[in-house]
Amino acid sequence: MLEARNITKEYGHIVALSDLSLSIPDGTIVGLIGPNGSGKTTFIDLVTGFSKPSQGELFFKGERIGGRRPHEISRLGIGRTFQETRVFKKMTLLENMLVASPTLERSESIERARDQLKWVGLSGLEDRQASALSYGQQKLLEFVRTLMSDPTFVLLDEPTAGISPFLTQRMLESFRALRDKGKTLVIIEHNMDVISCVCERAVVLQHGQKIAEGSPAEIQRNSTVQDAYLGGG
Ligand code: ATP
Repeated sequence: MLEARNITKEYGHIVALSDLSLSIPDGTIVGLIGPNGSGKTTFIDLVTGFSKPSQGELFFKGERIGGRRPHEISRLGIGRTFQETRVFKKMTLLENMLVASPTLERSESIERARDQLKWVGLSGLEDRQASALSYGQQKLLEFVRTLMSDPTFVLLDEPTAGISPFLTQRMLESFRALRDKGKTLVIIEHNMDVISCVCERAVVLQHGQKIAEGSPAEIQRNSTVQDAYLGGG
């Protein structure tokens, strides 16, 4: 689904990603983990066109996408969420959903929006302002808003950070349901329980480089990963 080949991203003298190569297989949920500042969000920004690689190539279904604009990437079927939620707080939930669906007929969009909101337990709140939602509900809203364009590949930046165990569970069930429909997901996550619960594989970054890749169980046993998080010795 996605292949990154020798990607480097520099911000001035800061090297956010360094010669990173990785593949995301079709129909899987892959966890992207690593200490703060290791380059996880930079990776999502590059894949979704929010910034351009300094070097290297990105391929989506075999097509070069590195350096393309966000709206072009979105049209290819790639969606994302942000670490800090970006819902429109003064708009209703339904309006939030409809801005993400410009290409459908209005009645079709409304039906899809209502279905998606219901799917994550937000039905009955369609006409409320997004500001009335809890932080976790806003994250759910942003997540399903991303799905309005029916992406095949979704990158989620810390989707469960700061939300209740109940809403986390709801989010994880949604991820599995998407995978069962054939979608591919990349999840940036700090909580290893979440990774173990939904991801087939995890990739670990440190200082912009891949230091490990494998099943969640393999990653947890990996001494390089343990050192990265806890310090050597
Ligand atoms: P966190 O877990 O804290 O969100 P991260 O693994 O997502 O961290 P990034 O946000 O990708 O890490 O940052 C990687 C490095 O690049 C950091 O040193 C960060 O300060 C730097 N960086 C990221 N974006 C920019 C930018 N727009 N300008 C300058 N430096 C940046």
